[in-house]
Amino acid sequence: MGHELRGSQIYNYTRICMHQRSLIKFCKECGQAVSYRIPDDGDTKSRAICSVCHTVHYENPLMVVGTLPVWQGRVLLCKRNIEPRKGKWTLPAGFMELNETAAEGAARETVEEAGAQFEMQDLLSVLSVARVGQVHLYFRAALTSDQFNPGFETQEAQLFDEKDIPWDELAFTTVKLTLQCFFADRAKGVQNVHHLNVS
Ligand SMILES: [Zn+2]
Repeated sequence: MGHELRGSQIYNYTRICMHQRSLIKFCKECGQAVSYRIPDDGDTKSRAICSVCHTVHYENPLMVVGTLPVWQGRVLLCKRNIEPRKGKWTLPAGFMELNETAAEGAARETVEEAGAQFEMQDLLSVLSVARVGQVHLYFRAALTSDQFNPGFETQEAQLFDEKDIPWDELAFTTVKLTLQCFFADRAKGVQNVHHLNVS
């Protein structure tokens, strides 16, 4: 049972493969070059500051939102057709857009990546990936059909029994942890919200 979740133990064995954000080079206000330094206003972190108009550019974490869709006890996974981790299996998820709620973003990604029909359910996991400045949210989803119509980001959408989950072929640590949480809950007959930190 290599995928068993042991209490609140945080798994560090698979490095998440997401790119660090690149540094800001030019001012969003006036287009001139910026340089990184600590502002003179009591701030303690280095920021991209415009050399001409002195605008300070604050950078904050990005949200990744997705679902864990279930059909008759089986979980829907998508085989990625894009980098990073092309050919690996993932839960449907992606970057949250402006002007949508977290659940709306998760539902949108599930439609885009799997072409699935489903009902959204409660929050399952919140995973801070501080190293790359991301927070991932996964919601439970109840599939209302086992027919899928994957978009270009997905090679294949497939339902898996717990025993058949391709644990060594998962794209991201956050996906692995979220699946572990789901199956651990199911074994106990509970539905918790899990908050984890991914290193
Ligand atoms: Zn400027």
